[in-house]
Amino acid sequence: MEKTFAIIKPDAVEARNAGKILARMEAEGFRVVAMKGHRISKAEAEGFYAEHAGKGFFGALVSYMTSGPVFVAVLERENAVAHWRAVMGATNPANADEGTIRKEFGQSIERNAAHGSANAADAAREVTFFFSQAELLSS
Ligand code: UDP
Ligand code: MG
Repeated sequence: MEKTFAIIKPDAVEARNAGKILARMEAEGFRVVAMKGHRISKAEAEGFYAEHAGKGFFGALVSYMTSGPVFVAVLERENAVAHWRAVMGATNPANADEGTIRKEFGQSIERNAAHGSANAADAAREVTFFFSQAELLSS
């Protein structure tokens, strides 16, 4: 079993799509190991997306991710990292396949409804960034 880290981003929460995205997580066979509402701070957004610091979209990304509440989550299943990326679809909703979360709910390359870790090392870092060990539900 593998874990990945997900965010239901501010645009999806604002549009009242959080429940549909949570239902999709479970329908895809993920166990929701943890989930909580959170208002991401500027410092958290800058740290979380440190790999993108200096890029042209960084300032706008930080503003967007701090613009409203999100749900952060830890998801578990076989091949969790790759499977959640596939369910989300391409970063730009315009390029995302039919049936993916970003195709269905994303509004733009920035406001794209969901986050998923890129690889297992990032997943471990991102889970720890937002959750304590005590918040992860045992099965
Ligand atoms: N993003 C953006 N403009 C871009 C690329 C990315 O606003 O040209 C935002 C978008 O919200 C994306 C996030 O920055 O989800 C992180 O970018 P990354 O390339 O890591 O994409 P992801 O891993 O989320 O698919
Ligand atoms: Mg990424």
